[in-house]
Amino acid sequence: MGPQAKLAAFRLPPLPTVGEIIKLFGLRAQKQLSQNFLLDLRLTDKIVRKTGDLKNAHVYEVGPGPGAFTRSILNAQVADLLVVEKDTRFIPGLQMLSDAAPGKLRIVHGDVLTFKVERMFPEHLKRRWEDDPPNVYIIGNLPFSVSTPLIIKWLENISKRDGPFVYGRTQMTLTFQKEVAERLTAGTGNKQRSRLSIMAQYLCKVDNSFIIPGRAFVPKPEVDVGVVHFTPLVQPQINQPFKLVEKVVQSTFQFRRKYCHHGIGILFPQAERSKNTEKMLMLADVDPTLRPSQLSILHFKNLCDVYRKMCDENPNLFAYNFREELKQKKREKPKKETDESDLD
Ligand code: SAM
Repeated sequence: MGPQAKLAAFRLPPLPTVGEIIKLFGLRAQKQLSQNFLLDLRLTDKIVRKTGDLKNAHVYEVGPGPGAFTRSILNAQVADLLVVEKDTRFIPGLQMLSDAAPGKLRIVHGDVLTFKVERMFPEHLKRRWEDDPPNVYIIGNLPFSVSTPLIIKWLENISKRDGPFVYGRTQMTLTFQKEVAERLTAGTGNKQRSRLSIMAQYLCKVDNSFIIPGRAFVPKPEVDVGVVHFTPLVQPQINQPFKLVEKVVQSTFQFRRKYCHHGIGILFPQAERSKNTEKMLMLADVDPTLRPSQLSILHFKNLCDVYRKMCDENPNLFAYNFREELKQKKREKPKKETDESDLD
């Protein structure tokens, strides 16, 4: 039997169930770490299938916990699975899986927010950005408090083609609170359209794969969970530095219920705010009376391009911070009321 045939035949041997592992190692979910576990392997199999054909793939799983996803990934006949888990209590249970799948599972005790994955997979997996995505995948069911900062960090990595994206356009399948999943995929005009929609969609094709009802988790979270699949685009829809795009998008959504010129205005010091806002909107060909949620990615592209030109003409502009100016004013005139009621 050749090595390929051996790989194809791989399935985990009979093991204690994930529920039994939890009991065996006394793995009570820690509420303060927002630990909610999936125990139903049919569900984790489904998520893994949605991720793509993982046969012979190299996978990075973030936050494996008691290992339900980990089992489904291993059963998908991957070549190699690297898991990074912060909570040491899960390591012995994962070690049991590693023993059952010799040579396939690498376990790292670490924090995904700081872990460097760029040297963890073989060099030969690297693809040029324009090529098809590499045979490297990221999968994770993380606490909601971690998944949002992590996706922002990874989006920045995509824009610089570093971190997990040194291998090329690495695909990711991650879970989010349902509402955050909806924001990530919301199109122009959708009421969930927000900063996250633009930041994710200018860099990736973002698909809301499906919803997992909260009752599928133990303990049950208060909300349902959305599974989101990201494929980095060959050409980002906005060709400006990530931090500049982030600043324009964040400012625009600052007053999400008002006309967009209010948010765009806070990119400029008050002294010349109205003149510069008018100029930016006119050059970007954006109607000032559109709401932030009504702006398309093309609108944001134009806004970012014009803002970049204005920053090139005025090197102090990018460092300007609306909140700092507001604080300064409050210090000077402590009694004057400032309307921040509509801040996002
Ligand atoms: N993937 C498992 C599942 O679906 O049953 C566990 C999900 S639980 C919501 C999140 C897991 O991520 C926990 O095991 C937790 O300890 C781990 N985790 C939380 N923050 C982490 C971090 N910063 N780095 C690595 N793992 C983390």
